Amino acid sequence: MDLEKFAKKMFELSDWPEGGDIDGLDFQEAAVECGLLTPETRYECCSMHGTCFCTEYHGDMSEGVTCYRKVQFLLTPNV
Ligand SMILES: [Zn+2]
Repeated sequence: MDLEKFAKKMFELSDWPEGGDIDGLDFQEAAVECGLLTPETRYECCSMHGTCFCTEYHGDMSEGVTCYRKVQFLLTPNV
């Protein structure tokens, strides 16, 4: 996990301070690259509600869906 790299990427993508738009897919790619999301191919839902991609996916999973799992510390709510 590389939070420093992730932060740099987010600044790059955001075009701060002009203010840009971070694309969801760019965000996902950066999160995978920096180890915040772990892709895993699933053929049935892993039932990890709210913590992964496939619980939000309602299509046919028989051909495989890439489920992105959040790294553990992201599952703890901000206080
Ligand atoms: Zn899943």
